[in-house]
Amino acid sequence: MTDSSRMKDQAPLMQAITDRRDVLIALTQDLIRIPTLNPPGAFYRDICDYLDQRLRKSGFATQLIRAHGTPGDSDKYPRWNIVARRDGTRAGDCVHFNSHIDVVEVGQGWTQDPFGGALIDGKIYGRGACDMKGGLAASIIAAEAFLATHADFAGAIEISGTADEESGGYGGVAYLAEQGFFDPARVQHVIIPEPLHKDRVCLGHRGGWWAEIETHGEIAHGSMPFLGDCAVRHMGAVLAAFETTLYPAMAARRTDMPVVPDGARSSTMNINSIHGGQPEFAAGDTSLPAHCVPDSCRIMIDRRFLAEESIDQVRGEVTALLEELKMQRDKFSYDLREINMVLPSMTDRDAPVVQVIADEIEKVLGRPAEFVASPGTYDQKHIDRIGKLKNCIAYGPGLLELAHKPDEYIGVDDMIDSAQVMAGGLAIITGVT
Ligand SMILES: [Zn+2]
Repeated sequence: MTDSSRMKDQAPLMQAITDRRDVLIALTQDLIRIPTLNPPGAFYRDICDYLDQRLRKSGFATQLIRAHGTPGDSDKYPRWNIVARRDGTRAGDCVHFNSHIDVVEVGQGWTQDPFGGALIDGKIYGRGACDMKGGLAASIIAAEAFLATHADFAGAIEISGTADEESGGYGGVAYLAEQGFFDPARVQHVIIPEPLHKDRVCLGHRGGWWAEIETHGEIAHGSMPFLGDCAVRHMGAVLAAFETTLYPAMAARRTDMPVVPDGARSSTMNINSIHGGQPEFAAGDTSLPAHCVPDSCRIMIDRRFLAEESIDQVRGEVTALLEELKMQRDKFSYDLREINMVLPSMTDRDAPVVQVIADEIEKVLGRPAEFVASPGTYDQKHIDRIGKLKNCIAYGPGLLELAHKPDEYIGVDDMIDSAQVMAGGLAIITGVT
Protein backbone atom coordinates (compact mmCIF):
# COMPACT_ATOMS: atom_id res chain seq x y z
CA MET A 1 0.00 0.00 0.00
CA THR A 2 1.34 3.42 -0.89
CA ASP A 3 1.78 6.16 1.64
CA SER A 4 -0.91 8.38 0.19
CA SER A 5 -3.56 5.65 0.22
CA ARG A 6 -2.57 4.81 3.78
CA MET A 7 -3.04 8.42 4.76
CA LYS A 8 -6.45 8.36 3.15
CA ASP A 9 -7.31 5.14 4.96
CA GLN A 10 -6.40 6.68 8.30
CA ALA A 11 -8.21 9.96 7.69
CA PRO A 12 -11.30 8.81 9.69
CA LEU A 13 -9.04 7.82 12.58
CA MET A 14 -7.28 11.19 12.56
CA GLN A 15 -10.65 12.92 12.34
CA ALA A 16 -12.00 10.84 15.24
CA ILE A 17 -9.21 12.29 17.39
CA THR A 18 -9.83 15.87 16.32
CA ASP A 19 -13.54 15.32 17.05
CA ARG A 20 -12.67 14.29 20.59
CA ARG A 21 -11.01 17.59 21.50
CA ASP A 22 -13.57 18.47 24.19
CA VAL A 23 -13.51 14.95 25.58
CA LEU A 24 -9.71 15.11 25.75
CA ILE A 25 -9.83 18.44 27.60
CA ALA A 26 -12.41 17.17 30.09
CA LEU A 27 -10.46 13.95 30.69
CA THR A 28 -7.21 15.85 31.30
CA GLN A 29 -8.95 18.21 33.71
CA ASP A 30 -10.55 15.33 35.61
CA LEU A 31 -7.15 13.65 36.02
CA ILE A 32 -5.45 16.88 37.21
CA ARG A 33 -8.23 17.44 39.76
CA ILE A 34 -7.35 14.20 41.56
CA PRO A 35 -4.35 15.38 43.65
CA THR A 36 -2.17 12.27 43.45
CA LEU A 37 0.76 13.80 45.31
CA ASN A 38 3.86 11.70 45.87
CA PRO A 39 4.99 11.81 48.59
CA PRO A 40 2.93 10.58 50.33
CA GLY A 41 1.23 8.66 47.49
CA ALA A 42 -2.25 10.12 47.88
CA PHE A 43 -5.49 9.29 45.99
CA TYR A 44 -3.99 6.45 43.95
CA ARG A 45 -7.12 4.36 44.47
CA ASP A 46 -9.33 7.27 43.43
CA ILE A 47 -7.55 7.82 40.14
CA CYS A 48 -7.42 4.06 39.45
CA ASP A 49 -11.20 3.85 40.09
CA TYR A 50 -11.75 6.75 37.72
CA LEU A 51 -9.63 5.11 35.00
CA ASP A 52 -11.28 1.76 35.69
CA GLN A 53 -14.75 3.15 34.98
CA ARG A 54 -13.61 5.05 31.95
CA LEU A 55 -11.72 2.20 30.32
CA ARG A 56 -14.35 -0.45 31.07
CA LYS A 57 -16.87 1.76 29.28
CA SER A 58 -14.50 1.67 26.28
CA GLY A 59 -14.44 -2.12 26.29
CA PHE A 60 -11.23 -2.77 28.22
CA ALA A 61 -10.87 -5.56 30.75
CA THR A 62 -9.26 -4.03 33.83
CA GLN A 63 -7.25 -5.14 36.82
CA LEU A 64 -6.51 -3.07 39.90
CA ILE A 65 -3.27 -4.19 41.51
CA ARG A 66 -1.95 -3.05 44.87
CA ALA A 67 1.84 -3.25 45.22
CA HIS A 68 1.80 -4.66 48.74
CA GLY A 69 4.96 -4.19 50.76
CA THR A 70 6.71 -1.81 48.37
CA PRO A 71 8.31 1.40 49.72
CA GLY A 72 5.63 3.70 51.13
CA ASP A 73 2.78 1.19 50.75
CA SER A 74 0.48 1.32 53.78
CA ASP A 75 -3.23 1.06 54.51
CA LYS A 76 -3.30 4.86 54.62
CA TYR A 77 -1.37 5.27 51.34
CA PRO A 78 -1.80 2.02 49.39
CA ARG A 79 0.16 1.74 46.13
CA TRP A 80 -2.61 1.06 43.59
CA ASN A 81 -2.05 0.48 39.88
CA ILE A 82 -4.39 -0.24 37.00
CA VAL A 83 -3.78 -2.37 33.92
CA ALA A 84 -6.45 -2.34 31.20
CA ARG A 85 -6.45 -4.61 28.15
CA ARG A 86 -8.57 -4.82 25.04
CA ASP A 87 -7.95 -7.82 22.82
CA GLY A 88 -8.35 -7.62 19.07
CA THR A 89 -10.24 -10.03 16.85
CA ARG A 90 -7.15 -12.04 15.94
CA ALA A 91 -3.66 -12.81 17.15
CA GLY A 92 -0.94 -10.16 16.92
CA ASP A 93 1.30 -7.83 18.86
CA CYS A 94 0.25 -6.07 22.05
CA VAL A 95 0.91 -2.31 22.30
CA HIS A 96 1.10 -1.07 25.88
CA PHE A 97 0.78 2.60 26.90
CA ASN A 98 2.20 3.16 30.38
CA SER A 99 1.68 6.38 32.32
CA HIS A 100 2.48 7.18 35.93
CA ILE A 101 -0.43 8.53 37.95
CA ASP A 102 1.61 10.34 40.63
CA VAL A 103 2.68 13.98 40.65
CA VAL A 104 5.37 15.83 42.61
CA GLU A 105 4.78 18.44 45.29
CA VAL A 106 3.30 21.77 44.24
CA GLY A 107 6.06 24.14 45.44
CA GLN A 108 5.94 27.95 45.38
CA GLY A 109 5.22 30.46 42.65
CA TRP A 110 1.92 29.34 41.14
CA THR A 111 -0.52 31.85 39.67
CA GLN A 112 -3.04 29.07 38.84
CA ASP A 113 -4.75 26.55 41.10
CA PRO A 114 -2.40 23.54 40.86
CA PHE A 115 -5.35 21.13 41.05
CA GLY A 116 -7.87 23.29 39.20
CA GLY A 117 -7.18 22.22 35.61
CA ALA A 118 -7.98 25.68 34.24
CA LEU A 119 -8.13 25.92 30.42
CA ILE A 120 -6.62 29.23 29.27
CA ASP A 121 -5.65 30.00 25.67
CA GLY A 122 -5.45 26.37 24.65
CA LYS A 123 -3.39 25.30 27.67
CA ILE A 124 -4.54 23.25 30.64
CA TYR A 125 -2.81 24.19 33.90
CA GLY A 126 -2.07 22.05 36.91
CA ARG A 127 0.49 19.93 38.72
CA GLY A 128 1.01 16.89 36.55
CA ALA A 129 -0.55 18.54 33.46
CA CYS A 130 2.51 17.74 31.34
CA ASP A 131 4.17 15.20 33.66
CA MET A 132 2.17 13.25 32.78
CA LYS A 133 -1.62 13.33 33.00
CA GLY A 134 -1.77 15.06 29.60
CA GLY A 135 0.16 12.14 28.09
CA LEU A 136 -2.11 9.62 29.83
CA ALA A 137 -5.21 11.41 28.50
CA ALA A 138 -3.74 11.58 24.97
CA SER A 139 -3.06 7.82 24.96
CA ILE A 140 -6.59 7.04 26.16
CA ILE A 141 -8.12 9.25 23.45
CA ALA A 142 -5.81 7.65 20.86
CA ALA A 143 -6.99 4.17 21.90
CA GLU A 144 -10.68 5.14 22.08
CA ALA A 145 -10.60 6.81 18.66
CA PHE A 146 -8.81 3.79 17.24
CA LEU A 147 -11.40 1.37 18.67
CA ALA A 148 -14.26 3.51 17.38
CA THR A 149 -12.91 3.42 13.84
CA HIS A 150 -11.41 -0.12 13.72
CA ALA A 151 -13.66 -2.86 15.05
CA ASP A 152 -11.38 -5.50 13.55
CA PHE A 153 -7.71 -5.47 14.55
CA ALA A 154 -4.92 -7.87 15.40
CA GLY A 155 -3.22 -8.16 18.77
CA ALA A 156 -4.15 -6.13 21.82
CA ILE A 157 -4.04 -2.66 23.32
CA GLU A 158 -3.09 -2.12 26.94
CA ILE A 159 -3.20 1.04 29.02
CA SER A 160 -1.70 1.18 32.48
CA GLY A 161 -1.72 3.85 35.18
CA THR A 162 1.05 3.20 37.65
CA ALA A 163 2.18 4.47 41.03
CA ASP A 164 5.32 6.07 42.36
CA GLU A 165 7.32 6.86 39.21
CA GLU A 166 8.42 10.09 40.84
CA SER A 167 9.97 8.13 43.70
CA GLY A 168 11.56 5.34 41.66
CA GLY A 169 8.60 3.30 40.42
CA TYR A 170 9.06 0.42 42.88
CA GLY A 171 5.35 0.38 43.81
CA GLY A 172 4.40 0.83 40.16
CA VAL A 173 6.08 -0.42 37.01
CA ALA A 174 8.81 -2.34 38.87
CA TYR A 175 6.15 -4.27 40.80
CA LEU A 176 4.08 -4.98 37.67
CA ALA A 177 7.22 -6.11 35.83
CA GLU A 178 7.99 -8.51 38.68
CA GLN A 179 4.46 -9.92 38.32
CA GLY A 180 5.11 -10.57 34.62
CA PHE A 181 3.02 -7.77 33.14
CA PHE A 182 5.92 -6.72 30.88
CA ASP A 183 6.92 -10.19 29.81
CA PRO A 184 7.84 -9.97 26.08
CA ALA A 185 5.58 -12.99 25.52
CA ARG A 186 2.64 -10.86 26.63
CA VAL A 187 3.56 -7.31 25.56
CA GLN A 188 5.65 -6.49 22.49
CA HIS A 189 5.69 -2.68 22.26
CA VAL A 190 5.71 -0.15 25.11
CA ILE A 191 5.10 3.59 24.74
CA ILE A 192 5.49 5.77 27.82
CA PRO A 193 3.81 9.16 27.16
CA GLU A 194 6.25 11.22 29.27
CA PRO A 195 6.53 14.89 28.18
CA LEU A 196 9.44 14.62 25.75
CA HIS A 197 7.55 16.65 23.13
CA LYS A 198 5.34 15.57 20.25
CA ASP A 199 8.13 15.52 17.65
CA ARG A 200 10.66 13.44 19.58
CA VAL A 201 11.19 9.74 20.18
CA CYS A 202 12.98 9.19 23.47
CA LEU A 203 15.15 6.08 23.33
CA GLY A 204 16.17 5.89 26.97
CA HIS A 205 17.82 7.66 29.85
CA ARG A 206 21.06 8.21 31.76
CA GLY A 207 21.87 6.29 34.91
CA GLY A 208 21.69 7.62 38.46
CA TRP A 209 23.54 7.01 41.71
CA TRP A 210 22.36 8.50 44.99
CA ALA A 211 24.47 8.43 48.12
CA GLU A 212 24.84 10.15 51.46
CA ILE A 213 28.27 11.20 52.65
CA GLU A 214 28.80 11.99 56.31
CA THR A 215 31.92 13.58 57.74
CA HIS A 216 32.62 13.11 61.44
CA GLY A 217 34.06 15.53 64.00
CA GLU A 218 34.16 15.98 67.74
CA ILE A 219 31.82 18.18 69.76
CA ALA A 220 33.39 20.91 71.95
CA HIS A 221 32.62 24.40 73.24
CA GLY A 222 32.24 26.85 70.33
CA SER A 223 34.59 29.33 72.02
CA MET A 224 37.40 26.75 71.91
CA PRO A 225 36.96 24.99 68.57
CA PHE A 226 40.57 23.77 68.71
CA LEU A 227 39.46 21.39 71.49
CA GLY A 228 37.02 19.71 69.11
CA ASP A 229 36.98 18.84 65.43
CA CYS A 230 34.61 20.56 63.02
CA ALA A 231 32.72 18.13 60.76
CA VAL A 232 31.48 21.02 58.60
CA ARG A 233 35.06 22.06 57.77
CA HIS A 234 35.81 18.46 56.78
CA MET A 235 32.78 18.58 54.50
CA GLY A 236 34.08 21.86 53.10
CA ALA A 237 37.20 19.98 52.05
CA VAL A 238 35.04 17.34 50.36
CA LEU A 239 33.15 20.03 48.44
CA ALA A 240 36.42 21.75 47.47
CA ALA A 241 37.78 18.45 46.13
CA PHE A 242 34.57 17.99 44.12
CA GLU A 243 35.11 21.45 42.60
CA THR A 244 38.74 20.98 41.69
CA THR A 245 38.71 17.31 40.66
CA LEU A 246 35.34 15.70 40.11
CA TYR A 247 33.31 18.45 38.44
CA PRO A 248 35.93 19.20 35.73
CA ALA A 249 36.33 15.45 35.08
CA MET A 250 32.57 14.95 34.73
CA ALA A 251 32.15 17.99 32.46
CA ALA A 252 34.85 16.63 30.13
CA ARG A 253 32.94 13.36 29.53
CA ARG A 254 30.52 13.44 26.61
CA THR A 255 28.11 10.68 25.70
CA ASP A 256 27.04 9.33 22.32
CA MET A 257 23.52 9.02 23.77
CA PRO A 258 21.34 11.76 22.21
CA VAL A 259 20.58 13.32 25.60
CA VAL A 260 18.69 16.62 25.72
CA PRO A 261 19.25 19.33 26.81
CA ASP A 262 22.85 19.50 25.67
CA GLY A 263 24.24 20.15 29.16
CA ALA A 264 23.11 16.66 30.14
CA ARG A 265 25.35 15.05 27.49
CA SER A 266 28.05 15.28 30.13
CA SER A 267 28.08 13.56 33.48
CA THR A 268 26.45 15.67 36.17
CA MET A 269 26.12 15.72 39.94
CA ASN A 270 23.70 17.68 42.10
CA ILE A 271 24.27 18.16 45.80
CA ASN A 272 20.77 17.59 46.96
CA SER A 273 21.08 18.72 50.59
CA ILE A 274 23.55 19.58 53.33
CA HIS A 275 23.09 19.36 57.08
CA GLY A 276 25.68 19.96 59.77
CA GLY A 277 25.65 20.58 63.50
CA GLN A 278 22.47 21.35 65.40
CA PRO A 279 19.13 20.76 63.70
CA GLU A 280 17.62 23.93 62.28
CA PHE A 281 15.04 25.66 64.47
CA ALA A 282 11.46 25.57 63.28
CA ALA A 283 10.16 28.81 61.76
CA GLY A 284 9.06 31.16 64.54
CA ASP A 285 11.22 29.52 67.22
CA THR A 286 13.09 32.39 68.90
CA SER A 287 15.62 30.24 70.77
CA LEU A 288 19.31 31.07 70.51
CA PRO A 289 21.76 28.38 69.42
CA ALA A 290 24.03 26.69 71.95
CA HIS A 291 27.72 27.16 71.14
CA CYS A 292 29.01 23.87 69.86
CA VAL A 293 31.49 22.50 67.37
CA PRO A 294 29.52 20.21 65.01
CA ASP A 295 30.43 16.54 65.16
CA SER A 296 28.54 15.52 62.02
CA CYS A 297 27.88 16.91 58.57
CA ARG A 298 25.92 15.11 55.84
CA ILE A 299 25.32 15.72 52.18
CA MET A 300 23.15 13.84 49.69
CA ILE A 301 24.57 13.54 46.21
CA ASP A 302 22.61 12.86 43.02
CA ARG A 303 25.07 11.68 40.40
CA ARG A 304 23.78 11.13 36.85
CA PHE A 305 25.96 9.03 34.59
CA LEU A 306 26.34 8.04 30.96
CA ALA A 307 26.10 4.73 29.11
CA GLU A 308 29.87 4.98 28.62
CA GLU A 309 30.52 5.05 32.40
CA SER A 310 30.23 2.02 34.66
CA ILE A 311 28.63 2.13 38.08
CA ASP A 312 31.96 0.91 39.51
CA GLN A 313 33.72 3.92 38.01
CA VAL A 314 31.05 6.31 39.33
CA ARG A 315 31.25 4.88 42.83
CA GLY A 316 35.01 4.45 42.66
CA GLU A 317 35.92 8.05 41.86
CA VAL A 318 33.92 9.43 44.80
CA THR A 319 35.41 6.84 47.13
CA ALA A 320 38.94 7.57 45.84
CA LEU A 321 38.47 11.27 46.49
CA LEU A 322 37.33 10.60 50.07
CA GLU A 323 40.21 8.20 50.68
CA GLU A 324 42.64 10.81 49.38
CA LEU A 325 41.27 13.34 51.90
CA LYS A 326 41.82 10.79 54.62
CA MET A 327 45.53 10.85 53.80
CA GLN A 328 45.67 14.63 53.54
CA ARG A 329 43.59 15.85 56.47
CA ASP A 330 44.20 15.22 60.13
CA LYS A 331 41.34 13.24 61.77
CA PHE A 332 39.28 13.11 58.57
CA SER A 333 36.78 10.28 58.68
CA TYR A 334 33.62 9.62 56.72
CA ASP A 335 30.79 7.23 55.99
CA LEU A 336 29.32 6.69 52.56
CA ARG A 337 25.82 5.21 52.37
CA GLU A 338 24.38 4.27 49.02
CA ILE A 339 20.70 5.15 48.72
CA ASN A 340 19.80 3.95 45.24
CA MET A 341 21.22 3.15 41.82
CA VAL A 342 19.73 3.01 38.32
CA LEU A 343 21.64 1.87 35.25
CA PRO A 344 21.30 3.74 31.94
CA SER A 345 18.79 2.30 29.44
CA MET A 346 18.78 2.72 25.64
CA THR A 347 16.51 1.16 23.04
CA ASP A 348 18.03 0.53 19.57
CA ARG A 349 17.30 3.12 16.91
CA ASP A 350 16.03 0.36 14.61
CA ALA A 351 13.65 -1.23 17.16
CA PRO A 352 10.13 -1.64 15.71
CA VAL A 353 8.32 0.78 18.04
CA VAL A 354 10.97 3.45 17.37
CA GLN A 355 10.53 3.14 13.63
CA VAL A 356 6.73 3.11 13.73
CA ILE A 357 6.41 6.19 15.94
CA ALA A 358 9.12 8.10 14.03
CA ASP A 359 7.22 7.43 10.77
CA GLU A 360 3.94 8.61 12.29
CA ILE A 361 5.57 11.80 13.63
CA GLU A 362 6.67 12.63 10.11
CA LYS A 363 3.19 11.90 8.71
CA VAL A 364 1.30 13.93 11.33
CA LEU A 365 3.71 16.84 11.79
CA GLY A 366 5.31 16.92 8.35
CA ARG A 367 8.85 16.89 9.67
CA PRO A 368 11.30 14.16 10.63
CA ALA A 369 11.30 12.90 14.20
CA GLU A 370 14.13 13.84 16.51
CA PHE A 371 15.71 11.02 18.51
CA VAL A 372 16.59 11.92 22.08
CA ALA A 373 17.48 10.43 25.45
CA SER A 374 16.28 11.76 28.79
CA PRO A 375 18.60 13.39 31.35
CA GLY A 376 16.60 11.82 34.19
CA THR A 377 15.42 8.27 34.55
CA TYR A 378 11.85 7.09 34.16
CA ASP A 379 10.07 3.75 34.25
CA GLN A 380 11.79 2.38 31.11
CA LYS A 381 14.54 1.07 33.41
CA HIS A 382 12.15 -1.45 35.01
CA ILE A 383 10.63 -2.54 31.70
CA ASP A 384 14.16 -3.08 30.38
CA ARG A 385 15.86 -4.69 33.40
CA ILE A 386 13.02 -6.54 35.17
CA GLY A 387 10.63 -7.05 32.26
CA LYS A 388 13.47 -7.86 29.82
CA LEU A 389 11.49 -5.98 27.18
CA LYS A 390 13.72 -3.86 24.95
CA ASN A 391 11.15 -2.49 22.50
CA CYS A 392 10.21 0.51 24.67
CA ILE A 393 10.26 4.28 24.17
CA ALA A 394 8.99 7.45 25.79
CA TYR A 395 6.79 9.46 23.48
CA GLY A 396 4.27 12.06 24.57
CA PRO A 397 3.09 15.66 24.50
CA GLY A 398 4.42 18.48 26.66
CA LEU A 399 7.68 20.20 27.39
CA LEU A 400 10.11 18.48 29.73
CA GLU A 401 11.27 21.90 30.94
CA LEU A 402 7.83 22.50 32.51
CA ALA A 403 7.84 19.30 34.56
CA HIS A 404 7.92 19.91 38.32
CA LYS A 405 7.75 23.73 37.79
CA PRO A 406 5.12 26.27 38.95
CA ASP A 407 2.28 26.90 36.45
CA GLU A 408 2.94 23.58 34.72
CA TYR A 409 0.65 23.20 31.71
CA ILE A 410 -0.10 21.03 28.68
CA GLY A 411 -1.07 22.41 25.26
CA VAL A 412 -4.31 20.95 23.87
CA ASP A 413 -3.02 21.04 20.27
CA ASP A 414 0.10 19.15 21.35
CA MET A 415 -2.07 16.47 22.95
CA ILE A 416 -4.16 16.16 19.78
CA ASP A 417 -1.05 15.85 17.59
CA SER A 418 0.59 13.25 19.78
CA ALA A 419 -2.67 11.30 20.12
CA GLN A 420 -2.75 11.15 16.31
CA VAL A 421 0.82 9.86 16.27
CA MET A 422 -0.02 7.20 18.87
CA ALA A 423 -3.21 6.15 17.06
CA GLY A 424 -1.38 6.01 13.73
CA GLY A 425 1.21 3.79 15.40
CA LEU A 426 -1.55 1.53 16.72
CA ALA A 427 -2.98 1.21 13.20
CA ILE A 428 0.40 0.11 11.81
CA ILE A 429 1.22 -2.38 14.55
CA THR A 430 -2.25 -3.91 14.70
CA GLY A 431 -2.25 -4.40 10.95
CA VAL A 432 -5.28 -2.37 9.96
CA THR A 433 -3.49 -0.37 7.25
ZN1 LIG B 1 7.02 11.84 34.53
